[in-house]
Amino acid sequence: MRRSLAALLCAVILLPVLARADVYESTMILVNKQNSLPSDYVPSDLSYPDVRYEEGVPESRKQMRAEAARALEDMFAAAEKEGIELLGVSGYRSYWTQHDIYQTRLQEAGEAHVSVYVAQPGKSEHQTGLAMDLGVAGCTDLTERFADTDAYRWLTEHAHEYGFIIRYPKDGVQETGYAFEPWHVRYLGAQAANVRASGLTLEAWYRRKLAGSRLTRQRRFRTGGIFG
Ligand SMILES: [Zn+2]
Repeated sequence: MRRSLAALLCAVILLPVLARADVYESTMILVNKQNSLPSDYVPSDLSYPDVRYEEGVPESRKQMRAEAARALEDMFAAAEKEGIELLGVSGYRSYWTQHDIYQTRLQEAGEAHVSVYVAQPGKSEHQTGLAMDLGVAGCTDLTERFADTDAYRWLTEHAHEYGFIIRYPKDGVQETGYAFEPWHVRYLGAQAANVRASGLTLEAWYRRKLAGSRLTRQRRFRTGGIFG
């Protein structure tokens, strides 16, 4: 009796925690201005990708989730074979690191700049451990200059082969809420190729998926059953 009560208590306490972790730890998680992560969320499997970084990157910001880290290593190795030496500039950032960055940039650059370039704490993909800002020698300042490099051109052709998308494309601000960030890649895993092939931002891709599933439900309803 006591054992079954303990099991029940465990289930009641643990299930919501597990369910929550599952949602936040999906490699397909959508984090943006409308979808926030809680301040205490830290990915469970952060690790250090074995790649080159810009000099001076703090250790904590070199991290990515384990699966993304391995994919980043593969992508860097493939680029290097083509003569392109990518550099990691900024990966995982905790809620509070993002908080400090946001406040500093707000004071330095003002509201108009941060609204399209700097995510508020909880609304940054960097907190998922699935994003990395990239550079090459002579171009690690995370500006649009990166779009003129061979590295960027290579990424547009090949990043999806390693599970990454260029998350904030040119002219995507209406959808993503952020200006063109050629340096910011986001790990999605196997779906990256589909998202890229769609030509849509991640937000628009999700919206189309959602519309598709609604349509399927309506069709099922009209045809009188789930096997209709
Ligand atoms: Zn970024």
